[in-house]
Amino acid sequence: MEKDVFCKIVAGEIPCYKLYEDADVLAFLDISQVTKGHALVIPKEHYDTFLSTPEKIMHKVFDVAQRIGQIAIQFLGAKGVNILTNCYEVAGQTVKHFHVHVIPRYESHDGFELELKANDEGLNLPMIAEQIKNNL
Ligand code: AMP
Repeated sequence: MEKDVFCKIVAGEIPCYKLYEDADVLAFLDISQVTKGHALVIPKEHYDTFLSTPEKIMHKVFDVAQRIGQIAIQFLGAKGVNILTNCYEVAGQTVKHFHVHVIPRYESHDGFELELKANDEGLNLPMIAEQIKNNL
């Protein structure tokens, strides 16, 4: 099977601006900087999405994402950070290898827009809550 681009970065076949590396996790700058310091944190081992990543590895990835977010605020002048991971194509995932985006946010218009717009007309919230709760 053809390696995905992040597996190629892990293997050293494609260069990256590396930020952090340990036995399980790699962090590097996103090649398309949505804002200054936009970083990606990935497990070195291949998992398709956040949803299929073993808990221990998933926690390690988020530990590094948290640290990079803190550094963006302390050292890059960011005033906030968006931490996000897209799962599957319908959610905007283009690289099929679990990754967490760390997107620093700046006070003046920084070009990144993430609008969570209510679209809840006709939704049966008690029923939806039951469906989720009963399967947790
Ligand atoms: P997503 O749309 O959530 O799957 O995000 C994939 C991200 O990977 C995009 O933001 C791309 O800019 C980034 N990306 C793709 N190829 C590379 C690469 N070679 N080095 C760094 N980032 C990359």
